[in-house]
Amino acid sequence: MNSPSTPAAQLAAAQDIAALELFIGGRFVPASDGGTLDVVSPVTEDVIATSASGTAADVDTAVKAARAQLDGGEWRRMSGSQRGLLIHRLADLVARDAELIADMDASCIGRSPIEPRLLDLPNAIETLRHAAGWADKIEGRTIPTPGYMGMPTMSYTLREPVGVVGAIVPWNTPFMITCWKLGPLLAAGCTVVLKPSEETPLSALHLAKLCQEAGIPDGVVNIVTGYGRVVGKALCEHPGIDKITFTGSPEVGAEIQRIAGPLFKRVSLELGGKSPQIVFDDAALDAAAQGCAMGVFFNQGQICAAGTRVLVQRGIAERFAAMLAGAAKSVKVGNPLDEGVQMGPVSKKGQFERVNRYIRQGIAEGATLLAGGETTHTKGWFVQPTIFADAKNSMSIAQDEIFGPVATIIPFDTEEDAIRIANDSRYGLGATVWTGNVARAHRVAQAVRAGAVGINCWAPIDARLPWGGVGSSGIGRECGLSGVLAYTEEKAITVLLAG
Ligand code: NAD
Repeated sequence: MNSPSTPAAQLAAAQDIAALELFIGGRFVPASDGGTLDVVSPVTEDVIATSASGTAADVDTAVKAARAQLDGGEWRRMSGSQRGLLIHRLADLVARDAELIADMDASCIGRSPIEPRLLDLPNAIETLRHAAGWADKIEGRTIPTPGYMGMPTMSYTLREPVGVVGAIVPWNTPFMITCWKLGPLLAAGCTVVLKPSEETPLSALHLAKLCQEAGIPDGVVNIVTGYGRVVGKALCEHPGIDKITFTGSPEVGAEIQRIAGPLFKRVSLELGGKSPQIVFDDAALDAAAQGCAMGVFFNQGQICAAGTRVLVQRGIAERFAAMLAGAAKSVKVGNPLDEGVQMGPVSKKGQFERVNRYIRQGIAEGATLLAGGETTHTKGWFVQPTIFADAKNSMSIAQDEIFGPVATIIPFDTEEDAIRIANDSRYGLGATVWTGNVARAHRVAQAVRAGAVGINCWAPIDARLPWGGVGSSGIGRECGLSGVLAYTEEKAITVLLAG
């Protein structure tokens, strides 16, 4: 891998994307009212790019382009094998431009480009390839039926594309999540109007160029950048959108359901989490501490599956808390492009204020602050990795998703105790069990309310595995076969075999 390019180089590359215009029907166009919005660096607080700020009229144009391909366009006539080939080509192009794409995301969210180069981009490419493989394997079933008025029948099912999809993406791992939606929905034969986060439009617009280069017909993939309350809302309200797939906060997820529900749109929601990491006294403690630290601090804690509730068996709680605090203090925070820096700022000013508000609340509620908590930079939205110990699960720092590098350690006594505390949350996305006891590992993994559980490893996210949550963590699954089927409708056909 080359060393990370400078923000200026990233910006120059970004400006190559047709001045960051909307991508509708295969053309880059400005917003219908000429509106723009600034993308601000969380490191320097400087404007690093200006993208088009789409309108409801732009969404309407994009939906029409997507609908035309679905109702009778070239895309509609393509076989699954042909779609699979195009998605594979897209994956090849993403692989070719992986470093540039990683740098684009990194510059927007203030993250070291190394992380997206090593994790997000390989995952995005694998997701596209995995979805491409399903494109010609979306099969129906033949179902035995007793017949019709005494005459024999045969019944079978077809899996048809759900239609035009409105895809709404957050800023924390933007390109990867875009591919979690794009690969499966294209494999299923859908078309899409995609709205990236206002903070991270660059990589999505680069993807638009790659879709063209791959030969995906114009109008299949449309990208409307802009504000959630304008573009996102217009997608949810538009009668031509059949399904909304959303990744983001539970608050916006609830708003989307409120709008899309009465319109009977299909809705998939990938929302937040407050994932427990349960550490038993028979665990390999060094590995557990290292895994827990990664689970909390990766991407500045701005990961839906961040393992921010660390439940530790009482006998080892003090020792383990000291290990985690040591790990937190050893993290070098600063400009992610500087040598040796391991953690950049949180991505938005509002996020910075939110994290600090929770830190103050944790102290006020009586948890013990073992590491971090203070602001050390005068410019940029930097938060020191923070560890609270001796916390209670009822505290706000244990119940609410902070979305920053803050861990809350809660002691427990027995296995039953651990399961009860783990499940005492409105969220249910990921969970991790750290133990040397195989039977206990499976017992606890099965008892915990979560969409994905790691045993002695933190939240494996893999293109082949279903990803999603229960409760306030969301509805539906992305990735794997479940992720592809989520973009299909099952139709039953019955034929009379008499006459
Ligand atoms: P957010 O909900 O503020 O925004 C997400 C997207 O929704 C953005 O594109 C935004 O513009 C858009 N949006 C905002 N208001 C809207 C509205 N009224 N109607 C339609 N769209 C609207 O979330 P965020 O701050 O970008 O991301 C952080 C959240 O995302 C966290 O809660 C995190 O846990 C969650 N997340 C979940 C997963 C997962 O897989 N479960 C993955 C990543 C992030």
